[in-house]
Amino acid sequence: MRAQIISIGNELLIGDTVNTNASWMGQFLNELGVDVQRVHTISDDKQIISNTIRQCLQESDLVITTGGLGPTHDDITKTTIAELFGVEMRQDEEVLIYIKELFASRNIPFSASNAWQAMVPENCEVLFNKAGTAPGMWFHEQDCFLAVLPGVPYEMKYLMKRRVASKLREHAKDIGYIHTKYLKTAGIGESTLSDQILGDLSEYLNDQVSLAFLPSFGQVTLRITGKGVSKEEAVSNTEALIALIREKAGKYIYGDDKEHSLSERVGEILMDQKKTISTAESCTGGLIASTITDIAGSSAYMLGGVVSYANEVKVQELGVSENDLEEDGAVSKKVALQMARGVAEKLGSDIGISTTGIAGPGGGTPEKPVGTVWIGFYSKEQHFAVKALLTKDRLVNKQRTTIMALEIIRRMLLGIDELPYALTKEMA
Ligand code: ATP
Ligand code: MG
Repeated sequence: MRAQIISIGNELLIGDTVNTNASWMGQFLNELGVDVQRVHTISDDKQIISNTIRQCLQESDLVITTGGLGPTHDDITKTTIAELFGVEMRQDEEVLIYIKELFASRNIPFSASNAWQAMVPENCEVLFNKAGTAPGMWFHEQDCFLAVLPGVPYEMKYLMKRRVASKLREHAKDIGYIHTKYLKTAGIGESTLSDQILGDLSEYLNDQVSLAFLPSFGQVTLRITGKGVSKEEAVSNTEALIALIREKAGKYIYGDDKEHSLSERVGEILMDQKKTISTAESCTGGLIASTITDIAGSSAYMLGGVVSYANEVKVQELGVSENDLEEDGAVSKKVALQMARGVAEKLGSDIGISTTGIAGPGGGTPEKPVGTVWIGFYSKEQHFAVKALLTKDRLVNKQRTTIMALEIIRRMLLGIDELPYALTKEMA
């Protein structure tokens, strides 16, 4: 089944509202096994709405529109569609009663423009909307299905899940199923992962199974998609590929669900091992501590942190040697090592993690260019620092350093003796 999505609304075109409906629907339809071919974002203009819908009806099996169903003068989707099909509007009694009751229960006076919400083109089937006042509409015209939904995101989602999905299954029994699995990795580049670690996977990839690499800030998520005539078949089609990826790249995988974050994983391991952590941050300015404490329950293992931005704070709070600061500079191996150990000792945690670097855009020198970052790690068993060269962008550097530090912690806790990006440990 081939589909097109039409997002209607001037606010989408001038950038007031981000078109999240289209991306959400794209994912939802894809998971149902519908092939989304095109997304149109168009203005609240009668001619454009009419032409776009007419064109899509000719090209596809399913067309879904969102927006422009409200009671105000700029909401013209319904009347435009009635004209397009050459039909009159009719009043839907069930919708009218529902809206009247809703208003009565909230003690809001009922007006003519509210009654207009219950008017629909006479050739549609109403998709009853319990999440709002504008009903959705379902048409079957010219061998094509047309679903017309409100623009408010939660109303649209309600109707997609509760009404449109079952309509699609009822009318197109062969749309099949899609199963998507996410494997999340950190501390390894996309090309290294693909070329050196996973190698040629073409034997495992076909019409039924596909693999995508989705990189972001020091992490690469692998998305494995399987298709099948049943849910079970879609799942089973992905299994061989997932097993192979786990076998080859297992140590780089920290999570196997889209929402699973690295800080959540690190938290789980710390809990399991009954260990505590503290942070001494310079160039990340507290971002590591913030990311660790994004996780509910992190008070069980996160003791605290020192944002030691100034040299005096590094000396007074963390016991960094003034001499080393002067000789080697704040961005150095010695200082990173002393910060990590200093915070662990001061706060009494099992692990101390530190960062000191030149976040940019200014402040670089030929020996220490912008993007030079030292990360220190301290535990009873190990005390080392690593040096990484990141980018010229300050915020990117903060993010990447944070991910790298968390990944170092994860690997050290699990006894994985390879550092992110194969960096080398520089011992105390
Ligand atoms: P209703 O009459 O049920 O309120 P509607 O169909 O008239 O809805 P619009 O008036 O076009 O919808 O939009 C309602 C709200 O939903 C606005 O806040 C708008 O910014 C938002 N919205 C509309 N389309 C989208 C979209 N494609 N993605 C995200 N938000 C959207
Ligand atoms: Mg609108």
